[in-house]
Amino acid sequence: MALWPDSYDGVWTLGGPVSRRGIGLHGGEIAEVCLKPSSRAGFHVSWLNNSDPSVTLTPHQAQESPLCTTLMLGDRRLGTVEHLLAALAGCGLTHVEIQVSGEEVPLLDGSALGWVEAIAEVGLTHAATSRLQPPEIKHPVVCHRGSSVITATPAEGFNLVCVIDFPQAAIGDQMLAIELTPARFVEQIAPARTFGFRDQVDQLRAAGLIQGGGLDNALVCDGDHWLNPPLRFADEPVRHKLLDLIGDLALVGFPQAQVLVYRGSHGLHIDLAKALLDVCPVTVS
Ligand SMILES: [Zn+2]
Repeated sequence: MALWPDSYDGVWTLGGPVSRRGIGLHGGEIAEVCLKPSSRAGFHVSWLNNSDPSVTLTPHQAQESPLCTTLMLGDRRLGTVEHLLAALAGCGLTHVEIQVSGEEVPLLDGSALGWVEAIAEVGLTHAATSRLQPPEIKHPVVCHRGSSVITATPAEGFNLVCVIDFPQAAIGDQMLAIELTPARFVEQIAPARTFGFRDQVDQLRAAGLIQGGGLDNALVCDGDHWLNPPLRFADEPVRHKLLDLIGDLALVGFPQAQVLVYRGSHGLHIDLAKALLDVCPVTVS
């Protein structure tokens, strides 16, 4: 096959193990992640420094946390999972063991590109067992938090529409619609980096957050300009919002749906993932 599957219908695992190390966004410590082939459907997390059994990921493990998605796995936490999960699911993988060294996934360059490159290094191979069936929706599902809205409506493929609307002139209004495939994910979404605002940086640092954040792993907006251009896409922020959405929906599987999100957040994405799971529980086919 070409490097990436044609669609999200297949069952795929990794061709071999591959690891990456890097700094964690919030704690600022070096974290390691080793990705391994799996014969079990789904994404499963275990720890490099002990032999506790792995935990299979579901949206019910997701917790509200500032600026990223954190999973509660038994009595352990794992933060900043969304770009890694977006890369795994976005590239078409369905069966993966994820071994982590600590409480955070490394931020790498703030996008999913480093994870995509790691996956490309070992390639994809057919998985031995069926996949977890993604939710099958028959009726629209709507979640909102104030004026922020996310909807999923039945569709032929996995179509995403994202609208953002920021007062900062450097971002402003952006809209992107995409019928997602693994190749489109890799080219159009995975390279988009996380972004933040100059006036929030000091505040977040004082709160003990983003100790590992810097100008090399996040775009920083200062009103009408960026502190660290160039951008990889003119509309890199809306593409990154889609990356986050894809990572959060990876916890439940990509539905045959059009997912439309206006002013999304991790909390809102997770609301939808849980709502999808409630209307159509995931089963092994
Ligand atoms: Zn992100």
